[in-house]
Amino acid sequence: IKKIGVLTSGGDAPGMNAAIRGVVRTALSEGLEVYGIEDGYLGLYENRIKRLERYSVSDVINRGGTFLGSARFPAFKEKETRQVAIENLKKNGIDALVVIGGDGSYMGAMRLTEEGFPCIGLPGTIDNDIRGTDYTIGYFTALQTAVEAIDRLRDTCSSHHRISVIEIMGRDCGDLTLNAAVAGGCEFMIIPEVTCTKDDLIEEIKLGFAKGKKHAIVAVTELMLDVNQLAKDIEAAVGHETRATVLGHVQRGGSPVPYDRILGSRMGAYAVELLQQGHGGRCIGIQHGKLVHHDIIDAINNMKRPFDMDLFNTAKRLF
Ligand code: ATP
Repeated sequence: IKKIGVLTSGGDAPGMNAAIRGVVRTALSEGLEVYGIEDGYLGLYENRIKRLERYSVSDVINRGGTFLGSARFPAFKEKETRQVAIENLKKNGIDALVVIGGDGSYMGAMRLTEEGFPCIGLPGTIDNDIRGTDYTIGYFTALQTAVEAIDRLRDTCSSHHRISVIEIMGRDCGDLTLNAAVAGGCEFMIIPEVTCTKDDLIEEIKLGFAKGKKHAIVAVTELMLDVNQLAKDIEAAVGHETRATVLGHVQRGGSPVPYDRILGSRMGAYAVELLQQGHGGRCIGIQHGKLVHHDIIDAINNMKRPFDMDLFNTAKRLF
């Protein structure tokens, strides 16, 4: 291969810029040309493709978001749309593509590979919900942000003997909530992996107050339930003022923490290495500290995300 394309797709994540930089600088050092595609698969369809040089990725390693832009483009599920994308790649002389995104983006990469265009997927999302990797690029920055938010809520909760409910991202994956809860010293949590009804939670909070607690923080993974309603129900049942805070997209932004920069850099470099070895349809992960690659479809369909039940059990003992 002589020319590599790179794009970021789906929700943005801190560290994506480090991953793009990893791809660009490694490819250039191997004598390859690199092309950046704007706004994910949408820009690929619209042929918004530009050559990237060494300086194109200067001063981005410390920046959140993705300087290439990202998009959701559902039309990419249609074969005809992808054919236009492949024609655009070929028109630009590009031989292989690195896709940085979540599992939806992985599906697009797999389809392109099946249709004759080799792609490598890199896990870029704060949710840590991608199979075939222990950690995703952006997760540790979002964790830092969530813990900082919890610390701030703790100050005010403690002063007012209040209960705080905090909604944390992660979709179907409770890693961000669980780890933020442990690091932030949250007393209670609701996460997708462990069944806990609203009534169970209220009983636990009541017990806590009966033991002499003066305030409480409840961490809840997004999409589990309506946190504003939960706050009202807790207040009615427990008799302490309760407020809900939805962290939302605040968790997506900010300068990436060192680990996300390092992970992005390593994975970006590894993607180029794999493409040079002739691999396509692979997704990159880090497992037990080592870079690995898996078949994308196998990873999406057959691999399970490990859930740290030990940490959950430890958390329960700390409450
Ligand atoms: P995040 O986890 O941050 O939401 P994601 O990559 O899972 O990231 P999606 O919106 O699911 O985000 O997917 C990003 C894009 O990937 C879609 O907008 C679409 O262009 C493409 N895509 C998703 N699913 C498919 C599919 N089955 N086939 C082809 N392309 C797809």
